[in-house]
Amino acid sequence: MPEGHSVHRIARQIAQNFVGRPVSASSPQGRFAEGAALIDGREAIESRAVGKQMFLAFDGDLWLRVHLGLYGAWDFSGEIVSDPTIAASNGRMGQTNQRGTPEEAILDAAGENSLTSIGAPRRARGRVRMSEQTTDINETDDLSQWPPPVRGQVRLRLLTERTCADLRGPTACVIQTPDEVAQSLAKLGPDPLVDDARDGEERFVARVRRTVTPIGLLLMDQSVVSGIGNVYRAELLFRARLNPHTPGREVSEETVREIWRDWSRLLLIGVETGQMMTRDGLTAKERRSAMARREHRHWVYGRAGLPCRVCGTSVVMEEAAGRKLYWCPSCQA
Ligand SMILES: [Zn+2]
Repeated sequence: MPEGHSVHRIARQIAQNFVGRPVSASSPQGRFAEGAALIDGREAIESRAVGKQMFLAFDGDLWLRVHLGLYGAWDFSGEIVSDPTIAASNGRMGQTNQRGTPEEAILDAAGENSLTSIGAPRRARGRVRMSEQTTDINETDDLSQWPPPVRGQVRLRLLTERTCADLRGPTACVIQTPDEVAQSLAKLGPDPLVDDARDGEERFVARVRRTVTPIGLLLMDQSVVSGIGNVYRAELLFRARLNPHTPGREVSEETVREIWRDWSRLLLIGVETGQMMTRDGLTAKERRSAMARREHRHWVYGRAGLPCRVCGTSVVMEEAAGRKLYWCPSCQA
């Protein structure tokens, strides 16, 4: 499931390539034919992400709301302009890393990097899939065909003169009025990249500390805080050395505030690098290795039965609200 960082990256990619241009919309698969017809030919005005949902405004006060869910993905093809805030990540990250040196562009063999996350802003011709990760698609397509041939079940195709975005398998893909968008947004908890930092923190603290629901479930509740998924949940709890079963109201206010601030930091790193990099305190060499290989990137996520990186205790995996939760019973006692 794409976590908040992926959706913010997608919203920025859409902004770069579609906003300010007339967009042809269609539903090759047919399931979104009516919705696509409503926005077909209109100019895209604004693209934004809140948590795991993306909102794209078209002239005439129509909004497209997309939630990718577990299986959704956007495939971009044609000329793809990278978002400068993503492309500039090497320099920006360099200001905050431990050694004060610019971050190198690091290629992940598993394909988390792509032309969207490497180097300077640029325009490239190619195909990129954006879902939980960003992946270059190296199919032997004839890129000279325009528009590109439809492959598989495409719910929605957005097309400009030079860029094509195909949406597959979303959980939600609907057209909304501004009022309906407001209702959708009202259901969502604060997002560090959307809300004012102080307001967001206060809302989060108030929600967490008034309930007996375990913190491990609260972090996944999109009405409490937006954008956290399974990976970030496990990692935030470990970083706070917090037992996932602790009722929200029993977590100290200081700890709740620190979780919000930590989420804000991790989300920004995720948006800029395209990777859920949740470890810190690494040497430059270790960091390179972690950026290149997912299994080195996390403290506890995906490490059931393996020794905790801090204390050596076996990392535990249990089901929580239908999703796998990883934690160290010693560090997070
Ligand atoms: Zn431990």
